[in-house]
Amino acid sequence: MKLDGKIAVVTGGSRGIGKAICLYLANLGATVVVNYVSRPDAAEATAMAIKDAGGKAAVYQFDISNSDQVQGAFKKILADYGRIDILVNNAGITRDGLIATMKEEAWDAVLDTNLKGAFNCIKAVSRPMMKQRWGRIVSITSVIGFAGNAGQANYAAAKAGLIGLTRSVAKELASRGITVNGVAPGYIETDMTNALSAEVTEKIKSEIPMNSLGSVDDVAAAVAYLVSDQARYVTGQFIHVNGGMFMG
Ligand code: NAP
Repeated sequence: MKLDGKIAVVTGGSRGIGKAICLYLANLGATVVVNYVSRPDAAEATAMAIKDAGGKAAVYQFDISNSDQVQGAFKKILADYGRIDILVNNAGITRDGLIATMKEEAWDAVLDTNLKGAFNCIKAVSRPMMKQRWGRIVSITSVIGFAGNAGQANYAAAKAGLIGLTRSVAKELASRGITVNGVAPGYIETDMTNALSAEVTEKIKSEIPMNSLGSVDDVAAAVAYLVSDQARYVTGQFIHVNGGMFMG
């Protein structure tokens, strides 16, 4: 697979799964726009790692939940590079809690970032991709969006929403040479899962047929396939990267 000459925007590219996706796509030849919201040090480190390996990268700060910031940032990216070929909606947050006590702010924050954020970014790339008659959009959803999870009603709702968003936009944009797909990770070793207690992590492992958490590269490899020329006839689909814990 080759991505030479392609311009890729990865939201939340500074850390975790997003960082691995940035490195993977850059290694295949794409120029990568590394987005972050609050940690410039992490984003710069990702861009530096790409450049040190001989790749091309730039860092753009914007909050995906803020439509004005997203519009401004994508306008600038288009002015700087002339096109956007690949969008990876990766940025996401958790604000876990049981439904009876979940604060409205926790619901709004997760829906605004994980679902509206993807809407904002897809909307921003749709016209330029339609004009190019080529585009790849991949959103990182979650096993939780398919299966649900106690204590994560907001996160599950947002990730399930991302599934419907992906399928609908896939139908809208298919005739323009644009594919829209998703990757649904199970439990992957990142800052997000490192925050779980050892006890919870052991319980999770016991429910995974492969008996271990996944790596960020397991997810990045699935994204790389979906944005490649080889996946040109695949749209509205989800690749489950979860060690067998859910088979949808
Ligand atoms: P992570 O390590 O917590 O990193 C989150 C990334 O998102 C960071 O780069 C962060 O930027 C960025 N971000 C957060 N809010 C943002 C906003 N409003 N605007 C722009 N960027 C924002 O997360 P992760 O574990 O790698 O997860 C990445 C994605 O995979 C998420 O969508 C998550 O739901 C999904 N996922 C993860 C797992 C897992 O096991 N880890 C499983 C299934 C799905 P800063 O560095 O600036 O904070």
